[in-house]
Amino acid sequence: MQPIVLSTWSFGPVANNPAWEVLVRRGDEGGGGGGVLDAVIAGATAVENDPTINSVGIGGLPDASGRVSLDGCVMENPDRAGSVACLRRFANPCAIARRVMEKTIHIMLVGEDADRFAEREGFAPIGEKGLLTDYARGEWEKWISDPRHLDRDKYRGWIPPLNIEEKARSGPDQSHDTVCVLGMDGRGRLAGACSTSGMAFKVPGRVGDSPIIGHGLYVDQEAGAAAATGNGELVMGTCGSFLAVEMMRRGAMPIDAATEALTRITRRFKLGPDHQVAMIVMASAKGAGGHGREWGGWASAAIRPGFQHTITDAGGTRVEPAQRVLMA
Ligand code: ASP
Repeated sequence: MQPIVLSTWSFGPVANNPAWEVLVRRGDEGGGGGGVLDAVIAGATAVENDPTINSVGIGGLPDASGRVSLDGCVMENPDRAGSVACLRRFANPCAIARRVMEKTIHIMLVGEDADRFAEREGFAPIGEKGLLTDYARGEWEKWISDPRHLDRDKYRGWIPPLNIEEKARSGPDQSHDTVCVLGMDGRGRLAGACSTSGMAFKVPGRVGDSPIIGHGLYVDQEAGAAAATGNGELVMGTCGSFLAVEMMRRGAMPIDAATEALTRITRRFKLGPDHQVAMIVMASAKGAGGHGREWGGWASAAIRPGFQHTITDAGGTRVEPAQRVLMA
């Protein structure tokens, strides 16, 4: 197999370049954990550590109370998955999620106890300033001073920005963009990582699809890997990533698996103009397309225009538009 790294959005090169570096250097070493898991976590971590990306890690936009919370997960197989949600003191959910997978009998830790776990595991807390950057604070101050948010203390739910009609004309809302990184090493082993600060100005305590196994990310060496970004509630209502992987288990090619998962959303939800979900999907070496045919490859698809994926292979790194858009 040829190594490959596939990630979400145009900030993908921030993830793919370090992931590729790990993959080509260590991808064939094998052993517990393996190079491909190291690679996808290196990719997600680079995005988490970039303060200019306002939807993941340091720099993430806060919840309605002005506090940033981070979610993330990693996965290699149904019995190799780890996750954390609502971290407030640590910047790197994917690396901490891996530790949950490797050091506990559990899959998911949340909230203050997840922060405490990270501390016990020796991760460095973010320090006094916290996760909120000056830019993110400024955006939150603008949001909170919007008169339509006067009922914010009742936390009835997320209220779109005032300029939503304008945004609807220019494409789906951009205030939430998860980094999902899928990788395959030279031996055909898959791994995935998914990291987010979630929907901007969310109700405090809200956790979306990204850290939930089977929703924001699912990986099964026998069937393939899939990951989602966009409005998490839409993905959660349809078990989006699990659905795409199960489609491949039954023989679908990646583009058809992604299309089926997204179509399920369009059929089962009443979509607003700011609703967007995109998926990246990768066949396993022995799954889709493996039934006597060649490897099924990978795909990306989105409900609406605007989504881009980043692909890195022996030919280099490319940022490209989704291969299929359902509501073009
Ligand atoms: N899916 C993420 C969430 O709902 C956000 C995103 O990917 O845009 O938390």
